[in-house]
Amino acid sequence: MCIFCKIINKEIPSYCIYEDETVMAFLDISQVTKGHTLVIPKKHYKNFLECDKDTLTHLIEVAQSLAVSLTEKLHAEGMNVLSNINEVAGQTVPHFHIHLIPRYSENDACVIKFNESEEQDLETLAKVLKD
Ligand code: AMP
Ligand code: ZN
Repeated sequence: MCIFCKIINKEIPSYCIYEDETVMAFLDISQVTKGHTLVIPKKHYKNFLECDKDTLTHLIEVAQSLAVSLTEKLHAEGMNVLSNINEVAGQTVPHFHIHLIPRYSENDACVIKFNESEEQDLETLAKVLKD
């Protein structure tokens, strides 16, 4: 059983801030910034790509309302909302989760950097992706 399934089953403690029949949200153990929260489905899905649509719809609504609440209660200036898919993208726990990372300044501990890479033919790429 994965570590987040153990948290859902209360076999491992967590600082839960929201729970209903299908979704749970708890504080990330390594607080990148104050209030860093994980929103997860109670059913085990490996990642965003595999989550069923009804669960995902509900989870994203919960994530949005928690993001609003975190922003207000912690006086955040912004928020990064992200989900890593597979190890190559930095996923370390193979149970779908959305990170809510409140932002307080551009120089806080959360660093998300988009580096330049090789140029792409956007016209061809768009055609391939649209079909
Ligand atoms: P990711 O790297 O996107 O898979 O994110 C996994 C997150 O889970 C990391 O930010 C970890 O700090 C967090 N994490 C791992 N174990 C626990 C735990 N027992 N309680 C709370 N958060 C955890
Ligand atoms: Zn799990």
